[in-house]
Formats: sequence, C-alpha cells, structure tokens
Amino acid sequence: MSALDPVLQPHYETVLARNPGEQEFHQAVLEVLESLGPVVRKHRHYVDEAVIERLCEPERQLLFRVPWTDDQGRVQINRAFRVEFNSALGPYKGGLRFHPSVYLGIVKFLGFEQIFKNALTGMPIGGGKGGSDFDPKGKSDAEVMRFCQSMMTELYRHLGEYTDVPAGDIGVGGREIGYLFGQYKRITNRYESGVLTGKGLAYGGSQVRTEATGYGTVFFTEEMLKARGQSLSGRRVVVSGSGNVAIYAAQKAAALGAHVVACSDSSGYVVDEDGLDVDLLKQVKEVERQRISAYADQRRAATFVAGGSVWDVRCEVALPCATQNELDTDAARTLLANGVVAVAEGANMPCTPGATRIFREGAVLFAPGKAANAGGVATSALEMQQNASRDSWSFAHTEERLRDIMVGVHERCATAADEYGTPGDYVSGANISSFIQVADAMLSLGVV
Ligand code: NDP
Repeated sequence: MSALDPVLQPHYETVLARNPGEQEFHQAVLEVLESLGPVVRKHRHYVDEAVIERLCEPERQLLFRVPWTDDQGRVQINRAFRVEFNSALGPYKGGLRFHPSVYLGIVKFLGFEQIFKNALTGMPIGGGKGGSDFDPKGKSDAEVMRFCQSMMTELYRHLGEYTDVPAGDIGVGGREIGYLFGQYKRITNRYESGVLTGKGLAYGGSQVRTEATGYGTVFFTEEMLKARGQSLSGRRVVVSGSGNVAIYAAQKAAALGAHVVACSDSSGYVVDEDGLDVDLLKQVKEVERQRISAYADQRRAATFVAGGSVWDVRCEVALPCATQNELDTDAARTLLANGVVAVAEGANMPCTPGATRIFREGAVLFAPGKAANAGGVATSALEMQQNASRDSWSFAHTEERLRDIMVGVHERCATAADEYGTPGDYVSGANISSFIQVADAMLSLGVV
C-alpha cells in the first residue's frame, strides 16, 4: 500500500502546521499525497513549481455570523463558512452542509476533495464547499427559511454563475435550496438560475439531480464489477444513512437486480430481509422527516436495531452513504469476514484510513468518494448547462448523460492506475488522474 513519498513529507508537515486542529482536512490531504509518489518521481516539476503547496491552500476562505430569530422570537447565532478552494478548471462548485458538527476543518476537507472529484467528471468546474453549524433537525419551515435568508444575505456577494455555485449536502435539500435561491434573487434582482444547483423542477432544477449522487455511486459500482466480469444483479447490498444519497443508491441498486437489505441513520439501523421498500423510506425520511425507526414501525418484515453498526449486517456490496469516518477498521474486518466484494463511498470519506487499507489489501473493489459520488456534482453541472441555454432535458436523457459521465470517471481512474503501476487501485487512479489535470491547468494559468 502506498506510503508518503519522502519528497512529499515536508509538504504534508506544512499542511499540519498551517492548519492546526483540522483533523479531517489533514486526513483528506494525506490520502491524496500518498497516491502522488509515482507522479512526482516522474514529473518533478510539480514539486519544484510549488503546485502541491498551492493546491493545499484555499484561494479564499469566508467565515461569517448568521443571526436569525426562532419561532419564540429569540435571537439565535450560527457560524457559516464558504471555502473557495480552487478555480483552475472553472467556477468554484460544491455543496453547503448544515450540521452541528460543521467547522472550518470539515469544510476544508470537503472543499479539497471537491477539487479532485470535479476534475474527474471531465467538466469545467472548480472546487469549493460551505456550510454552517445550524441544525435543521427539529426546526420549523419558517425557522429554516429565516436562517437561509440570513445566510444568503451575506453569502450572495461571493456567488455568481461564473464565480461560485453552491448546491446541497447533508442537511441541505430542496427546501433549503429554494429559500436560498429566493433570497439571492430578491437581493440581486436577477433570475440567475445557474448560481445554485439542486433547485426544484418548477424553477430551473434538473431532472435526475435529486437522484444523481446515489444513482452515480451505483453506476460506478456496476462498472467496477463489470471490469471483473461480474455484476450487481442478485447481490446482497447494505447502504448506510437514509438521506438523499442513501435513498437513491438503494433505489438504483434494486433496479439493477440487487437485494438491498439495510440502511441506517444516526440513531440505529433497519434490516428488511424482503428488500428495502424505497417508497416507504422516502415517505418516512423525505416527507414526514422522521427517524429511521418509523420505517420498521410500518413494515412487518423489518426490524430496527437501536445504536449498533449497520455494517454488522452481512452483504456482498457495501455503500456507505452517511458521513465521514462512519466505517472504521472493526466494521471493515466484519465486512471482509462476511464476504464483501465491493465497497463504494456514496458519502465523502466515510471509511477511515484504516478501513480503506483493509479493503485495498483484502483485494476488495474499493471506490473512493471523489470518484464514486461524483455523479451529484456532474449532474449539477448539467443543471448549469440547462440553465445557461434556458433548456430542460428529459429524465431519460439526463440519466443517460449521468451514466456516460460515471463510465468516464471509472475509465479515468482505471487508466491512471494502470499507467502509474497500481492496476485496479481506484484510490490511486482517482487521485493521480485528477491531480494531473488540475495541476496542469494551474501551471498554465501562471502564479495566480
Ligand atoms: P442527508 O442529510 O440527506 O442524509 C445524511 C444521512 O446520513 C442521514 O440519514 C443521517 O442520519 C445520516 N448520518 C449523518 N451523520 C451520521 C452519523 N454520524 N452516523 C450515522 N448516520 C449519520 O445528506 P446526503 O445524503 O446529501 O449526504 C450524505 C453524504 O453524501 C455526505 O457525506 C455528503 O457530503 C455526501 N455527498 C452528497 C451529495 C449530494 O448530492 N447530496 C453529493 C456528493 C456527496 P440523521 O438524520 O440521523 O443525521
């Protein structure tokens, strides 16, 4: 397994020193740098021209106060972030996350990952990410609206369809994007559809955007299996989380003939040996905004396990679709012992470094998030294309585009892995292919 090349060690130490306490950011940087040894040995100029240092330092970081009033009339204060990480390939592009755990280190890890993910799609989009420690859980629609309006009242001046284009992430779905877009439109007096993606279909959204990340993860998984002469059909699948990515990963896996038997949220997991009823899951989570236990209450074949790990449920294909570092070494060993053949990260960095190592050493097909979940941002770029041309495409056409893009992402990873001596290693392939593309663009643009 790749270790950090001595040439890159000082660069990683600089990142640690300049960004103290940002553990998730350190982890994301290390994972990329560990893959780059063969690249910098072959192309020394990436080190000599300080491309690594430039890449690890965001172009711009915004941190601001968001005051809003709750339903009882009390003033609440949250903190919001936007990290505009790298615009060598196009406008900053990446979602907003609303979750109490959000701090600068989380936003930087996500923004850093986003640079490489966006490059892998082959589309002209740079990398950025944002969010707030605001927790939408348990808030009324009116409170969420007031929060979104207040956040956009500061954020709008930094956005633009050619500058920075946010989307959703954990805690930010169609409702939040609607309120954010409404306030942007009001303040700027511009119907600039391409400034936010993940919009509703009624006002400039794209077909398949809601489904895209989950569907794309499954398309990537299918490509990995195909490369080994296998398929998803008949496979037993477990998904973690029960949000946007998890629901549509489960739906597409089932549509391709897999048997999806479990999913989770932060309170526990459900097992449904009859196969998850995705319509019921959507009703419980998206419409009623309930906990996952409510799914088991309404379905005889299902059981809810409070706490515990969804990775204890036996499966051949594991799709972690909840949050960072949710799948640790114990879970990885359990999955391996239970006969897992493929793991694809629907979420960003859900597997700890130790878990990733176990899968790669165990010859499990392993797709890192920056490749496996790139379908979401790719479809956001398709939404921007439709907005720019004032067009709207059919579901079937957009899904076909998504599928082609995911086949392309797989191809880029596989080719780079072959070329740099790590065939079948999608982690190296994803990091190397995207790094070279971004680094070359940065060098072409001069020292900016
Ligand atoms: P959602 O908010 O829709 O869903 C998140 C799900 O993960 C919820 O079921 C949530 O449960 C669960 N979850 C969160 N934290 C934990 C935890 N600590 N332990 C167990 N479960 C947890 O978010 P998304 O589905 O949009 O995002 C999921 C992941 O996918 C994130 O890593 C995100 O960055 C990534 N991603 C999302 C994209 C998108 O298009 N939406 C694009 C690319 C990546 P609970 O309700 O209990 O908190």
